[in-house]
Amino acid sequence: MSNSLLPLESPSPAHICPFDQACSYLEAAAKELKLDPGLLAILSNPRKVITVSIPVKRDNGEIQVLAGHRVQHSDILGPYKGGTRYHPAVTLREVSALAMLMTWKCALLGIPYGGAKGGIAIDPKSYSVNELERITRRYTSELIKDIGPSVDIPAPDMGTSAREMAWMMDTYSVNVGHAVPGIVTGKPLSIGGSRGREMATGRGVMIIVREALHSRGKSLVGVRVAIQGFGNVGAAAALLLYQAGAKVIAVSTGSGGIYAEAGIDIPALKAYALQNRKSIANFPQAVAISNAELLTLPCDVLIPAALENQITEKNVDLVQAEIVAEAANGPVTLVANQSLEARGVTVLPDILANAGGVVVSYLEWVQGLSYVFWDEERVNREMEQLMVQAYRQVMEQSKVRGISSRLAAYTLGVGRVGQALTDRGLYP
Ligand code: NAD
Repeated sequence: MSNSLLPLESPSPAHICPFDQACSYLEAAAKELKLDPGLLAILSNPRKVITVSIPVKRDNGEIQVLAGHRVQHSDILGPYKGGTRYHPAVTLREVSALAMLMTWKCALLGIPYGGAKGGIAIDPKSYSVNELERITRRYTSELIKDIGPSVDIPAPDMGTSAREMAWMMDTYSVNVGHAVPGIVTGKPLSIGGSRGREMATGRGVMIIVREALHSRGKSLVGVRVAIQGFGNVGAAAALLLYQAGAKVIAVSTGSGGIYAEAGIDIPALKAYALQNRKSIANFPQAVAISNAELLTLPCDVLIPAALENQITEKNVDLVQAEIVAEAANGPVTLVANQSLEARGVTVLPDILANAGGVVVSYLEWVQGLSYVFWDEERVNREMEQLMVQAYRQVMEQSKVRGISSRLAAYTLGVGRVGQALTDRGLYP
């Protein structure tokens, strides 16, 4: 019998439900840890699931009502923490899965946070900046009693950025009557953001890939990398890998990708995308490829940095990379993961590979609480230390238990939360 109390909302039996997948990983870790079934049942369910109506006046005067979610999975180790996603595919079960992943990610990295996630099912490209501001402010105001700097701290995710965080911070602050920078992380520097936050998730991906290559006696220099997604995470990872000497041979966005055997000039591509409203199409000295082609290119490292469920049982046999680094959350399905592991491909799991963002969010929160702000070098150094430590712990756990790096990461995260739950005990 399933432990999950969440209502089902899968559109079709063929649909891969992200929450079911997240529960499968949890169950595998629980089995490995011989976790008490009662603890497993608690951890299988979010503590709080919130859905709010967001009435928004469009620029043409029409009123539209959107559904906004915030799922708080666990606050056993500290305040809930997690991003806010604006994407048409957002569902309550997806947000719940992402909230659960945040719990294990924070525990794995040893930072004192629980896990949460928020989202609104919109395509931000279909709304004006003014409409997006109204949506973000109303969403924040509907959640006002459920968030707070020691309760639940949102951050950017797909489709949101420092701009939305500034609107959230302002809305919260105006409502409580004083400035509360600690209500969000990933905010602009002008209101207490941290240096290094913008590049943090991409930097973390680069660090974990570098460590994985070191474990194989290799370095980043000359390594052939393909990256799906050229947003916050993908573009930052691409730039840092390029600067470290890797050859980024392909990148893509939602509207397709580009490929250059000799390697893409990433600073030039970033400037090009900036000039062309984020489009990378027709970039000189590269040929067009589809997203499907990018995933199956011959390369050393494949970095899916866009959406969930990109490497599935349908295309996994065509994947040629030696290392797959999950910069996105859940880009490799459970079945595909098993197949890659069976072939000896190293899968660097999302809760490790993309944890750089939440680590620097934590450092931003610490700086805000202490009113002392660090230079970028210190932020990057502190983040790198936590990332490398987590990588080594995962590899050690994988070796000692004879399990995959994904299961090792989950056993560490789930085990720490389970231990804290046991020590705190059950109320009442
Ligand atoms: P973003 O919105 O900045 O960028 C997403 C990129 O993916 C864009 O280039 C977009 O064009 C591309 N994309 C969209 N649909 C696609 C499709 N169908 N095929 C290929 N590409 C597509 O988002 P982001 O913040 O970079 O987040 C990307 C992933 O990383 C998400 O899974 C997110 O949860 C995860 N993540 C983000 C952060 C963060 O700090 N932003 C932290 C941890 C994990």
